[in-house]
Amino acid sequence: MLAAYITHPSSLLHEMGPGHPESPERVSAIHDYLLSHGLLDFMVSYTAPAATRAEIERVHDGLHVAELIAAAPGSGYRHVDPDTSMNPHTLDAAWHAAGAAVLAAELVATGKTSSAFCNVRPAGHHATRREAMGFCFFNNVAVGIAHALAKFSMRRIALIDFDVHHGNGSEDIFSGDERVLMVSTFERGLYPYNSEAPTGPNLCNVPLEPYSKGDALRHAVTTRWLPALDAFRPEMIIVSAGFDAHREDDMARLGWVEADYAWLTRQIVAVAGRYAKGRIVSVLEGGYCLPALARCAGAHVRALIGAD
Ligand SMILES: [Zn+2]
Repeated sequence: MLAAYITHPSSLLHEMGPGHPESPERVSAIHDYLLSHGLLDFMVSYTAPAATRAEIERVHDGLHVAELIAAAPGSGYRHVDPDTSMNPHTLDAAWHAAGAAVLAAELVATGKTSSAFCNVRPAGHHATRREAMGFCFFNNVAVGIAHALAKFSMRRIALIDFDVHHGNGSEDIFSGDERVLMVSTFERGLYPYNSEAPTGPNLCNVPLEPYSKGDALRHAVTTRWLPALDAFRPEMIIVSAGFDAHREDDMARLGWVEADYAWLTRQIVAVAGRYAKGRIVSVLEGGYCLPALARCAGAHVRALIGAD
């Protein structure tokens, strides 16, 4: 069975100003890599629909949605935090990035595709129930998870977050929700600074020391994530796929390489094979060094579709 590749043209129109690292070129770099390396030949391409307001409001306060709609500028930029701003296309891109996760959850839950990779932006994992922050507006993976829980009556979904920054927004949304197990690694002491200790029993936070490399990641996955995932037996896995822990990415200080992302993805595929009929939805989060981002997303997708 083929995997899904989901994107939307609005991902290329949202931008936050000249020189901002969270740029439209990130999506283009990944797309070009997947295309030029033949990986899209093994995938079915879909255009992301816009998420509905009801789908967004399963995980976000209605006031948050209303404030973003009101804040959307007709021209120029409007800042929502010092690093995060909206241009006239941002809201459209945010609806479609969340909609990509909804479509991916549908495709995978119904068995139309084995897995799905969403090459979309803006990213989502810092967006809390109530706030946009850290380049994120709507929490895409959370919207996808909530859709799978509501529409397909799933009882156990695992959220795996390997972005170098902690997914504080996802934690805020799912802390204490026993239907969701969130396992994550992130660099200790990095943005968003104050969210290392888990706030609920369904969260497995594994901070990694600055300057540590792939061996520390592999140890964390083997000793912390896999036992938690095996005990949980997820019916679906959703991945917050950030590639900013790569050694060439100067947003952080971890030293992962392409082979680490491939290994990590193979572990996720194995868990999905054991419990979840192979169902994996992967959604782009961070990753700011364009060549490394493209190679790492390529390694991730290659393992996801079993072409490695
Ligand atoms: Zn990040």
